[in-house]
Amino acid sequence: MISAGLPGLPVTRYDHDRAALGSLLESLLGEQPSYRIEQLWHGLYVDLSDPMQIMTLPSALRERLAESLPSGLAEETRSVGDGGETVKWLWRLTDGALVETVLMHYEERSTVCVSTQSGCAMGCGFCATGQMGFDRHLTTGEIVEQVVRAQRDAGGRRVSNVVFMGMGEPLANYERTWGAVERIHGALGLSARHLTISTVGLVPGIVRLAGEQLPVNLAVSLHAADDDLRDELVPINRRWPLAELAEACRRHIDSTGRRLSLEWALIHETNDRPEDALRFASFARSLGAHINLIPLNPTPGWPTRGSSAQRVADFADELRAHGANVTVRRTRGTEIDAACGQLRADRLDTPVAAPDRRQAATALPD
Ligand code: SAH
Ligand code: SF4
Repeated sequence: MISAGLPGLPVTRYDHDRAALGSLLESLLGEQPSYRIEQLWHGLYVDLSDPMQIMTLPSALRERLAESLPSGLAEETRSVGDGGETVKWLWRLTDGALVETVLMHYEERSTVCVSTQSGCAMGCGFCATGQMGFDRHLTTGEIVEQVVRAQRDAGGRRVSNVVFMGMGEPLANYERTWGAVERIHGALGLSARHLTISTVGLVPGIVRLAGEQLPVNLAVSLHAADDDLRDELVPINRRWPLAELAEACRRHIDSTGRRLSLEWALIHETNDRPEDALRFASFARSLGAHINLIPLNPTPGWPTRGSSAQRVADFADELRAHGANVTVRRTRGTEIDAACGQLRADRLDTPVAAPDRRQAATALPD
């Protein structure tokens, strides 16, 4: 039986696995009829209902379950951008910690980007989450419920993909993140090939991931393909430099058969030069990886700006000329501070970056 909560915090609705729900029902009913477990499970994971709304259960039981199975996420704000195609939530957790979730609708899929920690301890200076420092891990239930709440909001569209690319470093919260992966796969029915874990490069976590039964996708946030620059941009590189990272990625590729993604936030005149493209293309090619480029999004605590559209296009061309496979990612949710690296949930009234500053950053000439 697993009720994967954290010490000192209430165990929330989606922290319970099936056996734990069975024990809960037994404690409430004095027996454990299997059809009640089935009804409760179906209500939570198929109908995505609050316990009070699971009408197959008797009303007295519903009331007791509503008390015993509190939601882990209270909606603090909900913002809509991109003409309704991007939705961002700020959630207040049971202890007051704040996290964000982003739902993005595309023509052929709907993707939810979930947080795995409140804050992050990895200290990447260009990332708003990193700038706020580490607050706490999220529980499995708090991660799973982000997907449930997004799906409830998605109208007729089905959340088809989950990316673990919100706040926090998923592999620094391995057990609970993996618990969420298994639940999202097993109970919510998303296939492993539609689940992607993004990491800054925690080598032991990648190796562990390579040994799991479920072959999920791996995205590595590289940003630099030489150790000197990467040490600066991504401090964890000092612990696990590029050669070790590449070896761990190779293990994941070999054991899962999945194509690796490499993320690269383009920073003006920092990692967007032709020599950066050359090194990056060779790193990516050696792993048969797919490259995702994105211009760095502005954050309040980082002075350097993202590369201009022209420099992004030139960098992509350069990579292709060296034989790499490249996609330039369209930025989503900029006007609601929901874009990559802008998730920062420690404020309620002050926007992350004042609009004039954001415009200035994106409007600057090459
Ligand atoms: N900790 C994990 C996942 C969360 S960060 C990781 O680092 O991969 C999600 C993605 O946003 C990462 O690829 C990260 O490098 C990127 N990112 C962070 N700050 C950014 C910024 N200011 N602009 C663009 N991308 C950013
Ligand atoms: Fe943490 Fe990822 Fe942000 Fe780095 S980029 S601080 S690892 S959330």
